[in-house]
Amino acid sequence: MSSLLAFDRKHLWHPYTSMTKPLPVHEVVAARGVRLQLADGRELIDGMSSWWAAIHGYNHPQLNQSAIDQLGKMSHVMFGGLTHEPAVTLGRRLVELSPAGLEQVFFCDSGSVSVEVAIKMALQYWQARGEEGKNRLLTINGGYHGDTFGAMAVCDPTSGMHHLFRDVLPQHLFAPLVACGFADPWDPKALTGFAELIENNHQQLAAVILEPIVQGAGGMRFYHPDFLAGVRLLCDQFQVLLIVDEIATGFGRTGKLFACEHAGISPDIICLGKALTGGYLSLAATLSTTHIAKTISSNPPGLFMHGPTFMANPLACAIAGASIQLLLNSPWQEQIQTMATIMAEELAPLRDLPEVKDVRVLGGIGVVEMLREVDVAWLQQEFIAQGVWLRPFGRLVYIMPPYIISNNDLRQLTRAMVTVLSAIQPQK
Ligand SMILES: *Cc1c(COP(=O)(O)O)cnc(C)c1O
Repeated sequence: MSSLLAFDRKHLWHPYTSMTKPLPVHEVVAARGVRLQLADGRELIDGMSSWWAAIHGYNHPQLNQSAIDQLGKMSHVMFGGLTHEPAVTLGRRLVELSPAGLEQVFFCDSGSVSVEVAIKMALQYWQARGEEGKNRLLTINGGYHGDTFGAMAVCDPTSGMHHLFRDVLPQHLFAPLVACGFADPWDPKALTGFAELIENNHQQLAAVILEPIVQGAGGMRFYHPDFLAGVRLLCDQFQVLLIVDEIATGFGRTGKLFACEHAGISPDIICLGKALTGGYLSLAATLSTTHIAKTISSNPPGLFMHGPTFMANPLACAIAGASIQLLLNSPWQEQIQTMATIMAEELAPLRDLPEVKDVRVLGGIGVVEMLREVDVAWLQQEFIAQGVWLRPFGRLVYIMPPYIISNNDLRQLTRAMVTVLSAIQPQK
């Protein structure tokens, strides 16, 4: 083992791994397009977009240039009392592109923080209206909203990390999993459990929070757009705010710029992150309606109680602006459609394997759900031997490659999945 890897193993935490029995890590020395270059010279085709973020691939000349240009001006300046062009340009873009009515932009550092901000906005909104009793949240099982405490409290209560911290987390309400898939015929009964919860508890509910259409890290499930449309109607009927977490789905991944568009709805608050900077830097945003912002601002204490040190970091904002421009100038709808077609074709045979529970594709997301938890270390080693980078978790082996991936590279990814998963021995 190289001294670099040895130090890493001894001293560095990685996401969700152990310090005493860490999963193997591989040293990346460079990345370009859809390829990661390892220290030992091997090249891997990236199937993960570094967790939904690197939608244009790595080392993109235009994004690099936007970073260089901004570095020459300033990489950071405080946002208290100062403003700058990168923040304003990006803010204008987000207001234009995001679902109708979301017009007030709060920039923050990461997805989890944007969820904290959204929750805080909802709570402060009801406080401003003198309805302090409306201070709980309603969500659905199987969700993932981040790792900070407010976000953890609305993650899936059993498979998420909720249970471990149960005693220190606020107790929220959880509706059943949505029992109607994206492409299934709509079954109105799928909304019943949710409808009962909101009807019986709306007096204490500040907001509903959910991931639109795609539940990501909580299980890679795709649910029916009519569920989301139904949630919007119920929130209006019972005076509960709707927070939509588009951190994973935003910026085209599901085939629409925002997944809300599948249901033709606008939330009261939206969270954006991950692909916002094309995977270059950590940046997120929480947008709300003018009504919410005005209500918070025109009642005591007369301001919104949040303000991170690195709020609206100019370097991140400049790159995010360039990334959105790049996306809009690209044929991204066609790219996503082509990816969906190829993934559906190539992954379909996996349905017949005894150890496979389900294969599903939506937009630029391809998921193979196994019957049992997979051995991540073993799978990763097999995928690397096939020249691809995947990061399975739990029972899920999935890809969401950069939008720029060529058909051949995508086929190499899907074929690696077929080869490796076919080698798993069925268990009795
Ligand atoms: C990744 C993710 C988050 C958390 O974002 P971080 O940047 O990791 O803090 C929140 N919600 C959803 C839906 C996500 O996919």
